[in-house]
Amino acid sequence: MADYSQYHALGQGEVYDPNDPNRTSAPAAQNFYPPGPQYQQPQQQPQQQPYQQQYGAPQYGQYAGQQPPMPSPGHGYGSPAPQAFQDQPQAPQDASLAAQVGGMNLGADSGYGTTRRKKKDRHAYHNVEAAGSSQAFNGMPPPGTPQTQFLDSAAQGVPAFGGGQYGQQPQGTPQMGHAQFGAPVGQFNQQPSNDASATIGTAGSGPPKVSPEDLPSVPISRDGAQQHFFKNVYHTFERHVPPPAAVSFVSFDQGNASPKYARLTVNNIPSTNDGLQATSLPLGLLLQPLAPQQAGEQEIPVIDCGDEGPPRCRRCRAYINPFMMFRSGGNKFVCNLCTYPNDTPPEYFCATTPQGVRVDRDQRPELHRGTVEFVVPKEYWTKEPTGLRWLFLIDVTQESYNKGFLEAFCEGIQSALYGGEEGEDGEPQRRIPKGAKVGFVTYDKDIHFYNISPGLDSAQMLIMPDLEDPFLPLGEGLFVDPYESKSVITSLLTRLPEMFSNVKNPEPALLSALNSALAALEVTGGRVVAACSALPTWGPGRLFMRDDGNHPGGELDKKLYTTEHPGWRKAAEKMVASGVGADFFLAAPNGGFLDIATIGHVSATTGGETFYYPNFIAPRDSLKLSLEITHAVARESGFQALLKVRCSNGLQVAGYHGNFIQHTFGADLELGVFDADKALAVSFSYDGKLDSKLDAHFQSALLYTSASGQRRVRCSNVIASVAETAKDSGTREQGIRDCMKFVDQDAVLAILAKEACTKLGTTSSNLKDIRNWLTERTIEVFAAYRKHASVQHPHSQLVMPERLKEFTMFMLGLIKSRAFKGGAENADRRVNEMRMVRSMGALELSLYLYPRMIPLHNLQPEEGFADPETGHLKLPPAIRTSFGQVEAGGVYLVDNGQQCLLWFHAQTSPNLLQDLFGSDKDSLKALDAYTSSLPVLDTHLNAQVRNIVEFLRTLRGSKALTIQLARQGIDGAEFEFARMLVEDRNNEAQSYVDWLVHVHKAVQLELSGQRSKGSEGGEGGVASALSGFSGLRPAYW
Ligand SMILES: [Zn+2]
Repeated sequence: MADYSQYHALGQGEVYDPNDPNRTSAPAAQNFYPPGPQYQQPQQQPQQQPYQQQYGAPQYGQYAGQQPPMPSPGHGYGSPAPQAFQDQPQAPQDASLAAQVGGMNLGADSGYGTTRRKKKDRHAYHNVEAAGSSQAFNGMPPPGTPQTQFLDSAAQGVPAFGGGQYGQQPQGTPQMGHAQFGAPVGQFNQQPSNDASATIGTAGSGPPKVSPEDLPSVPISRDGAQQHFFKNVYHTFERHVPPPAAVSFVSFDQGNASPKYARLTVNNIPSTNDGLQATSLPLGLLLQPLAPQQAGEQEIPVIDCGDEGPPRCRRCRAYINPFMMFRSGGNKFVCNLCTYPNDTPPEYFCATTPQGVRVDRDQRPELHRGTVEFVVPKEYWTKEPTGLRWLFLIDVTQESYNKGFLEAFCEGIQSALYGGEEGEDGEPQRRIPKGAKVGFVTYDKDIHFYNISPGLDSAQMLIMPDLEDPFLPLGEGLFVDPYESKSVITSLLTRLPEMFSNVKNPEPALLSALNSALAALEVTGGRVVAACSALPTWGPGRLFMRDDGNHPGGELDKKLYTTEHPGWRKAAEKMVASGVGADFFLAAPNGGFLDIATIGHVSATTGGETFYYPNFIAPRDSLKLSLEITHAVARESGFQALLKVRCSNGLQVAGYHGNFIQHTFGADLELGVFDADKALAVSFSYDGKLDSKLDAHFQSALLYTSASGQRRVRCSNVIASVAETAKDSGTREQGIRDCMKFVDQDAVLAILAKEACTKLGTTSSNLKDIRNWLTERTIEVFAAYRKHASVQHPHSQLVMPERLKEFTMFMLGLIKSRAFKGGAENADRRVNEMRMVRSMGALELSLYLYPRMIPLHNLQPEEGFADPETGHLKLPPAIRTSFGQVEAGGVYLVDNGQQCLLWFHAQTSPNLLQDLFGSDKDSLKALDAYTSSLPVLDTHLNAQVRNIVEFLRTLRGSKALTIQLARQGIDGAEFEFARMLVEDRNNEAQSYVDWLVHVHKAVQLELSGQRSKGSEGGEGGVASALSGFSGLRPAYW
């Protein structure tokens, strides 16, 4: 029998065991379908069912049986002469790093059950044997960075990480499967006490035996978890820490919301503020209320409670949920958040069993599902709900036409509306639901509306001449069902580029166009999708070049993070008030200044999104633009939204971090629009003490109008246990240790990242302060852990909580992100990425902080095809994002969720190129620099890579996956590739190894009381604390 005693307030008084064969709710297994699309194996392909149907891969019919098509002997890949290396390294960097890093006893890697590929085992298929190392990289590390900073310091007596710790270190990582994932409840009580598995020691002598390979590895933790979740479902009520966010998993909602919708930083919450402070962790909830689901997951139930609406607590207004307890034979229900005993409304009454469980519980999703949606009656309306109106605002200026942006945007809209697969009736699948409508406005110096009524032969243009005070020049025919008016719309969008090819107005009047859009949507609410390709310098709200490009030390003037322009601010606020939001597709002319701080303010305030193409080149970027418009239109969207989070007595909401308006503290968040990709963070503080005999509860409620025009509330309920940490209890230390076992690393990162964005955007903190603050938070977490949870380890070791093993790496990724990095950075990109981080979900953030890097030149034959065991794509293992991992002749796919690069070593085999791109592409120079997708070829490698790309498409946030070439020594994107290798020294910050050394030293100082802490977010911090410590002064901050 599973032990649910960990959760006290089940609400029903019944043991709720999903694994109990006798229980009445549907067992998980019934609901399980493997995640993601099914990838088929070559040998399973019937001859008449070629790959093209599903993945566009070539026919494999001719290859019978298990044998994948291998090259014939004569088709081998030759090794080009290695002499051509331009930049032979003096010595591998690793060797010198090994001198200071040692004694790492991580022991975790094998626990996940993935076999890491050793070089010797590599399949020779596409290998190019080259003498020498490929460690050095043209342009990397950035010139002028002293390589020896830490080496010197080590020589001066800073203790090197010594070996010798191994034997004494317990192997702490629980084996995958039972203790960590998919474990039956009760396992948590048996957590091994040696949770501190990742240690870096400085004590001990002897030669260093460990290379940087032994640092906690993000790719290994992801791949291991991924293998597990290909085979197992994540049950939400078993008191696990959720899977890593960048992993595909099917969750089974057992009354506690799926981590896709809500992730708590700490799933075992200290009962007191003092206890939380002792962990140095933030207490917060990452919410992504409309997050996409994947195949195999139960749909979110939509519940109509009629005119009465859903039952709610009279005192705190919480919605009915699985954790409310029915008493007095069902006549009362006790609120799980505020403990108020409510009378059950007569129409909702139902008898209870002797155990106190409502007889109808299994028929009522709101009583057994963590995330549900209530259809709500009139008192929840501010206006009559209608279907979502999409208004496309198309830039038809000269610049837009000249660079092909206009044409690409028009094609993108068509593909978004009509490019769907055909349904059973032969009609294309509707990307937007029935009831939703679309309209079109074009603008340059003038604003043009279009009547696109289905009865017309072609669209009629009406010019709105009043830029100061826009009005609506037509009543009927602006908004139509896109499928009824398909011919009018397609002909309009096809003709638009030509229509404006001779007009050539250079200056867009974007604010006036937005105000016109607002006039058109004021009554109903809706979503504006606006294109803009030049600084809007015309009409009211005209912007000017306010960035002089002079940013000493990379610090932007604070005014460049936001906008003071009253016209733009007012427009944004009016939009939210009318239930309108705006997405922007911005293409900067040659990377020029667009004032995204001002334009993007509108999308950030209204809950929309800014898609930014810093250097739009039509042949390369049109596909990405098109896919992103399609995604923006097709993803689940709501509008006119309000969000509220409630929590148990003893806690209160301390702040929200995300893109929205909150008029006064404590008020609901207002969002013009909201969609599947948007997440926000809520942080909590204590206004009392949590009762450790009860659980802590959280409920988020998003009130919105669905795209189909229904007013709904989406509720997600989250439960966490409470650990006794009261000072006098004597169990405080144990309580703190127990809390650290249930930390969700992705949630902690998300809360800190979003909080950092809030600080940067709304306080006087500059970038340097933010980086110091992030550094400080990293150090505090580990120092706290040492103080309370791993006292048995010698001081000289950096001990990482099992649940936060990759935390330092991710924090380094955050410090290196465009939003926060030191050094020169384009102001538009900085601001845009800062806002992006503020609205990212956990999956997108994880990739953004640590890209996925997959070698393609040595794929095993079966990789990239369905695994016969699981039916899922057999993924090649990802590798660390470091140039030290790069092999001569290698080809690597690197994806950070924003862009996906295909990097080619200069010595890439011509045969590999031919296999990947076609027989006429036998050298890197022969490839088209603007390649954005792979051709469909009849080769094994080509099919493998396309399948892998297809799989990665399912694991993303809002950005489309297209390919960009980064050929060594040829493409400018190579610098972007270097940026994405976040384990190396780059982006004006340290390498992973140096960073760990730095954190470790600071933790030691902290523990020995020699470290003076800077005020939070203020100047100083670790930098000043360490300034007297030779060699440890951070190099760049
Ligand atoms: Zn209540």
